Amino acid sequence: MKQTDILILGGGASGLCAAISAKRTNPNASVLVLEQLPRAGKKILATGNGRCNLGNLNAAAHPYTNKAFAGGVFAQLGTDDLLAFFRSLGLYTRADGEGRLYPLSNTAASVLDALRLECARLGVETLCDTKAESVKKTNGGFSVNDRFAAEKIIVCCGGCAAPAQGSDGSGFALLRSLGHEITPVKPSLVQLTTDTKPIRALKGVRAAAKLTLSTGGEAAGEVLFTEYGLSGIAAMDLSRFVLPDKPAAVSLDFLPDFSAEELTAIIAALCQNNPTLPAENLLTGFVPKALGLAALKAALGAVPQAVGSLQPNEITKITAALKSFTLALTGTKGWRDAQVTSGGANVKQFDRRTLESRLCPRLFACGEVLDVDGGCGGFNLEWAFLSGIIAGKNAALNE
Ligand SMILES: Cc1cc2nc3c(=O)[nH]c(=O)nc-3n(C[C@H](O)[C@H](O)[C@H](O)COP(=O)(O)OP(=O)(O)OC[C@H]3O[C@@H](n4cnc5c(N)ncnc54)[C@H](O)[C@@H]3O)c2cc1C
Repeated sequence: MKQTDILILGGGASGLCAAISAKRTNPNASVLVLEQLPRAGKKILATGNGRCNLGNLNAAAHPYTNKAFAGGVFAQLGTDDLLAFFRSLGLYTRADGEGRLYPLSNTAASVLDALRLECARLGVETLCDTKAESVKKTNGGFSVNDRFAAEKIIVCCGGCAAPAQGSDGSGFALLRSLGHEITPVKPSLVQLTTDTKPIRALKGVRAAAKLTLSTGGEAAGEVLFTEYGLSGIAAMDLSRFVLPDKPAAVSLDFLPDFSAEELTAIIAALCQNNPTLPAENLLTGFVPKALGLAALKAALGAVPQAVGSLQPNEITKITAALKSFTLALTGTKGWRDAQVTSGGANVKQFDRRTLESRLCPRLFACGEVLDVDGGCGGFNLEWAFLSGIIAGKNAALNE
């Protein structure tokens, strides 16, 4: 049996931060990370399209699921602390116009390298190709796989999203085996599958839109039309609200800054002032041409020759197609393509300030394995990093 003070299950974003934080808090504590993939931190490399959107200047105000619980971490550490943490690893960042933070190198590999090198410098031991399959309570703490004994463990296994990057839901099974409740999980920040007939000609078209889900929930930003439905940040953000197995429709407002009345008046004036204008060009000043054509078809069934023939009721229908272009939702692309898990270890069973289990003292959890998730924009990595730092620190106190 290999003995260690602090055993970290999962060497992803939260696990590597927990390891660094534990060692920095107590350099004398032995810290061992078990990672089931051949290398730690594989998912970090895939984040932000390879650029790693590692945080967001607006994270503290972000509507995380279980925000009050997440607030226990954000009350102790904010985005400034995260940036100071990364600077202490030699990693500098920049923010874009929406507060999204990226490494100055614009390369996710820099983030992973910084974390891995600091683990090595501090003497954190990492065992790759080693899956935590079982965990038991013992007199002195815990035993994992009947092979590793530890006084304290930190569960950092992530959720079920993107299993190719190692997060296969096994962290939930480990926590369940010790009596923890796992709230229902579903893929989040994932592309939406929809009725594709009305958008067949739109594959590859991007547009800005406000999206509303008929069962509740809104998101705004870019949408990308695809052969299966909708992608882009707005669609991914809307997926947070999708209820599995509940029929729903997505309504897209391509011109949220205009009221329906304003838009109808503008289109009516355009038609009146230039009656010979080919109808296919009527909406090119508002949306990409292909999208304008799809809206005209959705409104009128076919695209008329010239705009002069359009009747007032047809103009109202065109406005409706631009402001509530509706697609039946058939589901999402599922776990393989999801960025995040919604649901997870019930946060009521953890202390929000220390991330220690209320059921199993000396067991901590952080990152996505807990039932905390956010939208696109760096919020999930920031949660993983900061909660990892808090869990690691508290596990190392009194060691
Ligand atoms: C394609 C993609 C892009 C993303 N882009 C962004 C982004 O730009 N910004 C952002 O904020 N968020 C992004 N996310 C989400 C973000 O990556 C996650 O929320 C975050 O990585 C969660 O960190 P974690 O440490 O909790 O889990 P993970 O990063 O999933 O790490 C868990 C680790 O534990 C290991 N593991 C699991 N089970 C076991 C076990 N039983 N034994 C041993 N090891 C185990 C896994 O192999 C993995 O290495 C993205 C996700 C994906 C998939």
